[in-house]
Amino acid sequence: MTAIYQNSGNDTTAGSASLRGNESAAGNAPVWENRSAAAPQTMPERTRWGEKRYYSLDYYLKETYGRKLYKIALDGGFTCPNRDGTLGYGGCIFCSAGGSGDFAGDRTLSVAAQMDAGKALLAKKYQGTGYIAYFQAYTGTYGPLSRLREAFTEAIRYPGTEILSIATRPDCLPREVLTLLQELSLEIPVWIELGLQTIHQKSADFIRRGYELPVFEQAVRDLRSIGIPVIVHVILGLPAEDTKDILATIQYLNDMDIQGVKLQLLHVLKGTELAAYYKAHPFPVLTLTEYLRLLGACINQLRPDIVIHRLTGDGPKRLLMEPEWTANKRLVLNQIQSYFKSQDIWQGRSYTNGRITHSL
Ligand code: SF4
Repeated sequence: MTAIYQNSGNDTTAGSASLRGNESAAGNAPVWENRSAAAPQTMPERTRWGEKRYYSLDYYLKETYGRKLYKIALDGGFTCPNRDGTLGYGGCIFCSAGGSGDFAGDRTLSVAAQMDAGKALLAKKYQGTGYIAYFQAYTGTYGPLSRLREAFTEAIRYPGTEILSIATRPDCLPREVLTLLQELSLEIPVWIELGLQTIHQKSADFIRRGYELPVFEQAVRDLRSIGIPVIVHVILGLPAEDTKDILATIQYLNDMDIQGVKLQLLHVLKGTELAAYYKAHPFPVLTLTEYLRLLGACINQLRPDIVIHRLTGDGPKRLLMEPEWTANKRLVLNQIQSYFKSQDIWQGRSYTNGRITHSL
């Protein structure tokens, strides 16, 4: 799964490569250990992550690799059990026809050709040589094992690939896939992104996520048992979820052995079932001011060693219905940084000794 429009993300990325332009990824085994049960956290220094007030992916990559790495979003030609009838046909309610991979490469091309195309796009903006091969579209571990091996191997053999990142569903990680991931991780860092979105079953039912929380928990345990870093997608702004509900998801993740998060504002994309629902039953979408407040509360409470891969999200402009203000990505990101500074927000500010000490 990729998770909702597992898209975007320039927010915290070092350099986005992808055809989609944003995404980021996270985690790398050498640095990430099980810190969820770690010793009590001390209040982080506000300058700890460079110019940012949170542990950005960009900072993590520079810290770990000494330079930027650029993400190239790929489409491995997979489908999704929530779409092919195994679990359902419509997919998650927010998922676009592109399987939340609207910025990914062309699935009719080989993986190497998609890497070539992504690299060519990047060359217009960046000078760099290191890439994150990111299987973004649909469910990245859902397919015949031979096909998965072929696609992932092609990606890691591509010159300059430094990290293999795969977005998937927690119910699509059978033992043989875990074994493959473990094998690959001996050659190159492998990251797995899981589309959790929320811990609240009512919301999970609404978005038709198709699995329950224990499935996610087992997937995290399985991945961590083989040393694979886990990045979790969370949607902020789901209908019927208030700040308290969303902070409950953040606190739940603080207690999990995860290494990264992608915080994504709920987008209503044209052509999705969410768009149809929105037209029939208009619900309030967050304003920029509301989102800044909510995001600030989440960041203050987020465990400080969790790398933040994304602070917002941006659906493709051609598909974006709401919130319209997200179309101006640069403005949004600038507003986020300004808000954090003006409100003296930093990651983990309210997280001490494994507990939330105060809230906004
Ligand atoms: S329908 Fe499938 S591909 Fe789309 S977001 Fe849900 S799990 Fe991901």
